[in-house]
Amino acid sequence: MSIYENPKEYAEQCHISLDLAKRRCEHYIKRIELTEKVVCPECGSRELCIDNDGSEDFIGCTGCWNTYDIDDERLKNWVKMQCGFDEVLRYSKDISKYGIEEVERNIGQKWEEFVKASTDALVTS
Ligand SMILES: [Zn+2]
Repeated sequence: MSIYENPKEYAEQCHISLDLAKRRCEHYIKRIELTEKVVCPECGSRELCIDNDGSEDFIGCTGCWNTYDIDDERLKNWVKMQCGFDEVLRYSKDISKYGIEEVERNIGQKWEEFVKASTDALVTS
């Protein structure tokens, strides 16, 4: 189950308001529906996920355990839609790891403002 189906959990994980979480989740659920037809080039499974080996992201298939480059041409459209490209969700992992101050230093603004701008950009894209 995708985290986008549970805005409350998403809000908690990302340290954002429920209202913003709902807007983001709605958007990503629509996007995910569009990419449901994309399957693993090797085994045809839909069990693809974006993973991280500690230094960079890659695509893994939990059907055949193959891994693919994050910019693999065949999975490009799929990747575009995934949580790896949900910058808020991505940074939320850094927040739990390094704390919100560290992330705010990195992005150069308040987390709240960053999330708001990111969400506005989503909705108009
Ligand atoms: Zn596979």
